[in-house]
Amino acid sequence: MKPAMWYLIMIVVGFFYVYLTAVQYIRGQEANQPPTSYQPHYDPQYYDENLISSSNTLDFEYHNYAKMTDFVRSMSATYPNLTALYSIGKSVQGRELWVMVVSASPYEHIVGQPNVKYVANMHGNEAVGREMLLHLIEYLTKSYTTDDYVRWLLDNTRIHIMPSMNPDGFEVAKEGVCRGGQGRYNARGFDLNRNFPDYFKQNNKRNQAETEAVKQWVSKIQFVLSANLHGGALVASYPFDNSPNTTLDWSQLLHILNTTQGKDGREEVDYRSVFQQFTSTPSLTPDEDVFRHIAGVYSFNHASMHLGLPCKPGAHSFSNGTTNGAAWYPLTGGMQDYNYVWHGCMDVTIELSCCKYPTADQLPKFWADNKKALVRYLAEVHRGVRGFVKDEQGRPVEGASIKIRGRDVGFQTTKYGEYWRVLLPGRYTIEVYAGGFDPREEDFTVVETNPTLLNLTLYRAADRHEAQRRPSYVGGPNQQQGAAPQSGISGFLSSISSQISNVFSIFG
Ligand SMILES: [Zn+2]
Repeated sequence: MKPAMWYLIMIVVGFFYVYLTAVQYIRGQEANQPPTSYQPHYDPQYYDENLISSSNTLDFEYHNYAKMTDFVRSMSATYPNLTALYSIGKSVQGRELWVMVVSASPYEHIVGQPNVKYVANMHGNEAVGREMLLHLIEYLTKSYTTDDYVRWLLDNTRIHIMPSMNPDGFEVAKEGVCRGGQGRYNARGFDLNRNFPDYFKQNNKRNQAETEAVKQWVSKIQFVLSANLHGGALVASYPFDNSPNTTLDWSQLLHILNTTQGKDGREEVDYRSVFQQFTSTPSLTPDEDVFRHIAGVYSFNHASMHLGLPCKPGAHSFSNGTTNGAAWYPLTGGMQDYNYVWHGCMDVTIELSCCKYPTADQLPKFWADNKKALVRYLAEVHRGVRGFVKDEQGRPVEGASIKIRGRDVGFQTTKYGEYWRVLLPGRYTIEVYAGGFDPREEDFTVVETNPTLLNLTLYRAADRHEAQRRPSYVGGPNQQQGAAPQSGISGFLSSISSQISNVFSIFG
């Protein structure tokens, strides 16, 4: 090779090195900024009478950031006794991440009442969920006085609704575009549903403003049940999204190559998705029965999701319209696994539409298809067990670690000593641990018709060593990302890392 050619190659390589270093530096600057502190404040414009809605019905159009902001503000002005508007932080480009509480007690947490949430549009070009949640806000508030079921739900539940987790992405997405990635990512080009700490694998993606805001949010409010709304398929997909290992089954290869359809909006056939699907096996949580049930509650209350029809001939079809996330294909850094493992919140990813951003004239049909499912899903928080953990003097014990025996994903009591767990009918044993107290366990029964109320009193440990026997297990806000549980975890998670999973993590 001629020397001139070598010089040219070195110049090109050098240019790319400088370019990549600069990109990493800029992103690093962003990531190294201290997280915005969590200061939930209700929107002050709630007091503005001019915002009281003059029109009676939300239109079936797409609402950009300005219109969405107008709508949620007008709702909080029009329905001050049923709604409260707050922001959990700002997007990269400074847009508020609005959350609307819909409840009979919107400004005040009623002790013992569970919190639930919906998050939509974390992929900015998956737009149907965003509009569904705006319509849900309107439906719940307007139906409170006329619909017994809605009134019961709002009287007994605190519902937090975030129509858009990625408002920056939505602003650059294009209506009518069913595929592709324009608007999917946040303003710094990150996929927010790959940006959370991961239980199974180290996630090295730079922490983004939107992700950080959600992490702060869910660490302050004990959400019991939630869903995040996406587009690109029609299915309710439940944890785990990621997998401790991957199993090579060469017999699947031909089938996958023939039927590859991207998960979560990635229809584009590339080798990454082929490899990921190729290695897919179910990655089941110890709450498989509950997740399968609540995902089914959505799909069977949806007009057609439960039919499990493929979005196009040859595409993936899902029995009953539900699937385990990793069985579809594994991903690292997803939000639902984070909600579940870190905070004990039962979170499901719901894919609402085969087309990510269908034209607005289809929105009335989407609303008709999803309305009942959106309402009924939230009511599932009212099954299982709930109660308070208190000491001998009747004072609440905050941060007590709880698990249901055989379900080694733990959760914690709130500052009021409250706890909740969604469970199907059956016999269970609850185990409670708190520093300085004797561990406690109690048998209980869950029935179909109403949640079991079970209050637990903890007694101060007589011998200091007793308190030190507190076991550790998965869950709780202090769980480190990528950290394998040290003890008290059943075998299903024992093979956390394998050479194969490390190889495939580069595709994450
Ligand atoms: Zn998505």
